[in-house]
Amino acid sequence: MKDYKDTLHMPKTGFPMRGKLGKNEPLRQAFWNELDIYDKRLEKNKDNTPFVMPDGPPYANGNIHIGTAMNKILKDMIVRSRSMQGFYTRYLPGWDTHGLPIETSLTKNEGVDRKALSTVEFRKLCADYAYRQVDIQKAQFKRLGILGEWDTPYLTLKPHYEGSQMEIFADFVEKGLIFRGLKPIFWSPSSETALAEAEIEYRDKKSPSIYFTFDAVDTKNFEGPFKFLVWTTTPWTLPANLATAVADAIDYVFVDTGKGVYVMGEALLSQISEKLGFEKTDVIRRAKGSELVGMTYKHPLYDRVSPILSGHHVTIESGTGLVHIAPGHGEDDFLIGKANNLEVLCPVDERGHMTKDSGKYEGMFVEKASKEVVKDMDALGHLEKLEWIVHSYPHDWRTKKPVIFRATNQWFASIEKIKDDLIREVKNVKWIPSWGETRMENMVKDRETWCISRQRIWGVPIPVFYHENGEPILDADIVRHVASLFKEHGSNIWYEWDAKALLPDGYESELSPNGQFKKETDTLDVWFDSGTSHKGGMTDYGMSYPADLYIEGSDQYRGWFNSSLITGVSSFGKAPYKSVLTHGFVMDDKGRKMSKSLGNVVNPNDVANSLGADILRLWVASVDYQADVRISDRMMKQVTETYRKLRNTIRFMLGLLSDFDIEKHGMAFESLESTDQFMLSELDDLKESVSMHYDTYEFDDVTREITRFVTNRVSAFYLDILKDIVYIEAKEDPVRRSAQTAVYKIVEALLPMLTPIMPHTTEEAYQFLPSHKEESVYLENMPRRAYPENKALKERFDALLMIRNDVMKALENARNEKIIGKSLEAKLTLYPKDKATALLLESFKNLEQLFIVSAVNIDTFNKGAHTYERLSVDVTLQEGEKCARCWQVTDVNDEGICERCGEVLRKDT
Ligand SMILES: [Zn+2]
Repeated sequence: MKDYKDTLHMPKTGFPMRGKLGKNEPLRQAFWNELDIYDKRLEKNKDNTPFVMPDGPPYANGNIHIGTAMNKILKDMIVRSRSMQGFYTRYLPGWDTHGLPIETSLTKNEGVDRKALSTVEFRKLCADYAYRQVDIQKAQFKRLGILGEWDTPYLTLKPHYEGSQMEIFADFVEKGLIFRGLKPIFWSPSSETALAEAEIEYRDKKSPSIYFTFDAVDTKNFEGPFKFLVWTTTPWTLPANLATAVADAIDYVFVDTGKGVYVMGEALLSQISEKLGFEKTDVIRRAKGSELVGMTYKHPLYDRVSPILSGHHVTIESGTGLVHIAPGHGEDDFLIGKANNLEVLCPVDERGHMTKDSGKYEGMFVEKASKEVVKDMDALGHLEKLEWIVHSYPHDWRTKKPVIFRATNQWFASIEKIKDDLIREVKNVKWIPSWGETRMENMVKDRETWCISRQRIWGVPIPVFYHENGEPILDADIVRHVASLFKEHGSNIWYEWDAKALLPDGYESELSPNGQFKKETDTLDVWFDSGTSHKGGMTDYGMSYPADLYIEGSDQYRGWFNSSLITGVSSFGKAPYKSVLTHGFVMDDKGRKMSKSLGNVVNPNDVANSLGADILRLWVASVDYQADVRISDRMMKQVTETYRKLRNTIRFMLGLLSDFDIEKHGMAFESLESTDQFMLSELDDLKESVSMHYDTYEFDDVTREITRFVTNRVSAFYLDILKDIVYIEAKEDPVRRSAQTAVYKIVEALLPMLTPIMPHTTEEAYQFLPSHKEESVYLENMPRRAYPENKALKERFDALLMIRNDVMKALENARNEKIIGKSLEAKLTLYPKDKATALLLESFKNLEQLFIVSAVNIDTFNKGAHTYERLSVDVTLQEGEKCARCWQVTDVNDEGICERCGEVLRKDT
């Protein structure tokens, strides 16, 4: 028999089945570079509404990790989708480049001897190091397909950025928000720096818990001798003890314990007695706290007599009701000390070692000092009880080491003075998810000051000069002058130039009669650096204030969102963002954080080079990123499956278009076959929901909707029935061209819709789309509704598709019962159960095609073997011969082909 294979119009496309993404994606990226598609897209949108989304700068140190990769991919999906919706959307990448981790990397990992270098020499090494890190990360981000202005990123170390930051600082100065004060603040001995509240995290710590006594000296009108019983978990602060506080209204008791008379809160007596194992507890006297105020006691370790004071923070819930006060080591202690004119004693240095003011403990680290203090108190008979407790204690969020409270001279920005404005602005912002508003509001509400000084080298200097008498000069004009110098020369001049050279020409002051000035040596908190990116990384580049969107991880409520809000409101009176979107963190398959020690770290570039950046991107677009997300091999397998489904369906559709030119062969919607019209109206619905989900950054919904359409509509239904049309019918048959028109429209819409998610793959496919309009798929716009809505058509097909599902089940059963082999061997007899179903079925002229069988009869008087909701079905073997060309079972001629095929062959030749 003759072979008719060559007469069929089999699918043909150069778009390969296998993506080989690891190898091919870099080629796509080179293609984008060559075409300059980022700039071309901007050019196309240049007269349109801008969409401003500045980059929250990652820290320039080390390789990118899966979390930063997810962050950048989300941003890229936003930039691409907004751009393709027509918004003028730029992406200017930025980096946070100052701060301790870079100093540490140099000294610890790169063997730099800090002490052998001048400040400026060391700062230059820091800058070189930061630039190298930026280059490494830049290449890694680009490998993920992130488009942006990579050649001109904003870096917080660039002179222009530093100058802009100074200008914002000048606004703070002008508003009177900057002040200097001695204050116990969170201090990290491991980082040797003050920490902002934002840099603190609470973790469990094991601490000594001690009960100890002070001998009363001045007992007022009470009969002595007696001892005050006190409790603390930080014995190393005892050398700084300058008072003990009681609460005025609390009842205290004088208890004869057998070892002497102890004073403690009455409500705690039985609890304490049990813990300390008193022989007896005879209450000799009672007194209100206010009656104890004014008594004094002797410090057991020093020749020092200190007072009993009234403390607003003393409660009777734990401890003894008497609280040890060290004004240099606690916020309440500091306030009470200040109210009572106590010295701010702080015998601990920046590395956490005791100073000579602590006497014999000099040189010991606080933990060691604690042990020694306890030992000495015990030896002197003042220790009642030592036990170890595990409690929640503040830690340095970077080093994960415990911090201490330590009084130091610091620079502060007042939050108190602008708090009302901040809270008003928080309420004006759209927070996604919405709980962000409460979180941010509470964070602002509870804050009075922002400690902005750091005792570091690698940072932006605080632009304050001191008079000869030590008084600081806070003058906005001088700061602006320094800002202009920084913009021109960079901030190293602060260390290189003389104070006079940094001050405006001819600057004089009565407070410096000899014309001498000193410069501040502290640097600004790095959160102040990145917090001013709305200027240095946004408006300085021509983007408008406020931004439409800030997006970062949910830890940035205390970080970047926070400092940006404060600096923005201070300078512009307005939040720097209209909306804030947060994403969660990436965990491993068991929900654990990733860490080197657990060995569960996923390197995003490894994934890109093995599976493909598009697979990683599709994973990001498949998870609910607003919560914490997980990544595992199993999930990546699922994502790869979805990817294959999408790729293969697109490939199949491209194959159906090998002889199709939309200009020449495309048909108007009204002339299309009803199945094709139905598919295009389904496509219209998809376009609308995809666009809506892109608007609200719900990428997982975009992926879900597209995958559902591709799987349920295109792959399981439409392409199935199209084979009989596109392969078999005559080339120019209107039914065939109608189908191809619809397939073309579907691919033409799917590729742009998928581009923000898997741009490499859609670009590759787009180049194989016959007569595509643009050089790159990224220059296409997001497709919009294009066809008239036809409710009746949709309802008719929805009903048919339900019936089709049942018919497919009947065919499957018949195959299992060996009644038929291939579905084309089948003859169907359908028995509709009601008139509506009968009418519906009769309205379709191509039921054989829709069900992929050789014959369909409709009979109303019988009952079929397979019963379903709206009909029953009989499946029998179709009598006749198999057409050698189309495989339909029917009457065939001498050549072995059916009448239809005979006609097709006459037309095609
Ligand atoms: Zn045939």
